[in-house]
Amino acid sequence: MDRLPIFLRLTDKACLVVGGGIVAERKARLLQRTGASITVLAPTVSTGLQTLVDQGQVKHRPHQYNSLFIKEFYLLVAATDDATLNRLVAEDADAAGKLCNVVDDNDASSFILPAIVDRSPVIVAIGTEGNAPVLAQQLKAQIEAWIPERVGALAKQAGRWRSLVKKRFDTLRERRRFWQRFFSGPIAQHLLAGRQAAAEKAMRAELVCDATARTESLGEAWIVGAGPGDPGLLTLRAQQLISRADVLLYDRLVSKPVLDYARKEADFISVGKRAGAQAMSQDEINALLVDLVLQGKRVCRLKGGDPFVFGRGGEEARALADAGLPFQIVPGISAAIGCAAYAGIPLTLRGVSASVTLATAKLDSDIDPDWPRLLNSGDTLALYMGANSIAEIRKQLLNNDVSPQLPVAFVENGTTQDQRTILSTVAEMEDAARSNAISSPSIIYIGESVAAAKDLQWFEGQSRAEEFSRSIDGELVAVASM
Ligand code: SAH
Repeated sequence: MDRLPIFLRLTDKACLVVGGGIVAERKARLLQRTGASITVLAPTVSTGLQTLVDQGQVKHRPHQYNSLFIKEFYLLVAATDDATLNRLVAEDADAAGKLCNVVDDNDASSFILPAIVDRSPVIVAIGTEGNAPVLAQQLKAQIEAWIPERVGALAKQAGRWRSLVKKRFDTLRERRRFWQRFFSGPIAQHLLAGRQAAAEKAMRAELVCDATARTESLGEAWIVGAGPGDPGLLTLRAQQLISRADVLLYDRLVSKPVLDYARKEADFISVGKRAGAQAMSQDEINALLVDLVLQGKRVCRLKGGDPFVFGRGGEEARALADAGLPFQIVPGISAAIGCAAYAGIPLTLRGVSASVTLATAKLDSDIDPDWPRLLNSGDTLALYMGANSIAEIRKQLLNNDVSPQLPVAFVENGTTQDQRTILSTVAEMEDAARSNAISSPSIIYIGESVAAAKDLQWFEGQSRAEEFSRSIDGELVAVASM
């Protein structure tokens, strides 16, 4: 470590940015977030800087750099496009005992500006001592995704309760133990979920009641949509909750990379069909969910796609609600939405399709849907769970006067490396499905806008290219290790 990371208070401190271009503007804006008093030294300034000057947020000295200028400043940033001038500023600053950062010049800088994750008052700073700024940016993105959005609110609330906790507990040790319980327990959980009133109630119980009245841990269920397959389509919220869960209850369609976000100590329970074993019934899943939450577990109920689109999330939420247990529901990208994007099928398209219907080819207990109503309900029809009823679907479409030439697409294993898109028509769909051995999971799209996929397919070729580049990597590794 050749530099000490510190958090410097700059409120009302005189800071000088030398340079008037875009880079100088970016630095001025960063310093501004700390409430520093900023002066920009440059003959001319960017329009963005000029706006800040006009708003009175930044002072402008329209001069060439001269070492006489730096006297009155606490901290300097050299951000001109002239590397020699920047170095001169750094040398002058050093001689005068001032802090100085030189843009893109690690050696000349007495301090460097890290990549920042700002969930004020929680700040994470990432530095690479100038070796790999792009890596710092990538790490920042990963940390952004990993830290709960409301962590700032959590820290602020803890700050507000500090004096209360100090009054309640006499020794440092007791207070530390309290805060450890606080951040890993139900109060923090309430605050991270945005349940302020519940947090306050739990806090009161913690501070006022005796130890036995406290809930040591609070079970909660998170009914989370995991998207159609590509782990990149997971939401940030889903990823955060997966990584915090004690137990994961997951369906067959949830992919392995998604489960990899979980903690190593977490319990994994598959409730979908497994080889040789029966799937759990919905009632058994509901009962298990309730039971785990009652045990104080944080349960992540992971479902393919979206929990409320043919996901039976409604039934599970009801079981939890009936038991009076807390739950959250996190939407996911439903298969019909994800597969359409990855197959190049615009679900709505100006002049072609003004509405879309998400439906299933088979209702529960194998009851057929009301086909005439379904076919009149929108322009593009996306059918879930239809891979085994294609002959029946075709018959119903033709019986209900749908044009035999209307475009149809099957998207199998959408958004995964195994995605296949087969384009056909109502007349041909049965033969096309049979000759291509279309199987589950597949979405069947029916409608004029489906034809656009001929020109808009982008993913399947790319996934082959990725496979190719992986095999090249493999060969490179093989060559390198020879
Ligand atoms: N809740 C899920 C749907 C579960 S029902 C969602 O919102 O997507 C299961 C059906 O979803 C499958 O029969 C299939 O029609 C569809 N499906 C799920 N994942 C799919 C995928 N990767 N590709 C194609 N269809 C998929």
